[in-house]
Amino acid sequence: MTAAPNILIVEDEAPLRMALQDAFEAEGFLVRAARDGEEGLDLALREDPDVILLDLMLPKRDGFSVLKALRDDRLTTPIIILSARGEEWDRIHGFEVGADDYLVKPYSARELVLRVRAVLARAEGGTPGLKKDGGRARFGDISVDFSGYSLTRDGEKTGLSRREMELLRFLLDHEGEAVSRERILDAVWGEEEFPSTRTIDTFVRRLRKKIEVDADRPTHLLTVHGVGYKFER
Ligand code: CA
Repeated sequence: MTAAPNILIVEDEAPLRMALQDAFEAEGFLVRAARDGEEGLDLALREDPDVILLDLMLPKRDGFSVLKALRDDRLTTPIIILSARGEEWDRIHGFEVGADDYLVKPYSARELVLRVRAVLARAEGGTPGLKKDGGRARFGDISVDFSGYSLTRDGEKTGLSRREMELLRFLLDHEGEAVSRERILDAVWGEEEFPSTRTIDTFVRRLRKKIEVDADRPTHLLTVHGVGYKFER
């Protein structure tokens, strides 16, 4: 069984976005589209696409910033940059921040489809240089595959971002223990980054949607008021 590949198109120019949407739907892709960088980042993190087409000049948040935020969080999703800007600086910068391919407008839809298929094939064979962290864990009716960045519940597989996975691993390692947001920040985000404690709450909410039957009434990832969180099997 091969499921339809899931593509996210982040492009603010409506005619271009719709043309891309049509082209990929005609190729059997499941298409989602975003009109600005914020929406693109949000959909990318929420919908777990197989591949992302990312314009650079975007309202609210530019393509580079979206790309960097995604690479900081989710290493594995192939990203192809689409841009009207063709300067070498852009191209090098794009690869530096983690683009898989780069196409300068105007491009042919045919070429784009071929490139998307190529990055998907490459991704299936494993991303070179990606640091994988093996191991599995089970709790409730959930099976976590840390090396595959995914978890399975009722036979349904859901992708995990790197942060989500590290957060889940940290909580599993401290099962039954109330851990403060500060400890979670140190362990999962480290000293290099300074996210607010609200970031943790956002990630906890995201993780709950993936592991809890009812995210509003969690039975695994519990809130400990005035402290932080606690994981219960
Ligand atoms: Ca644009």
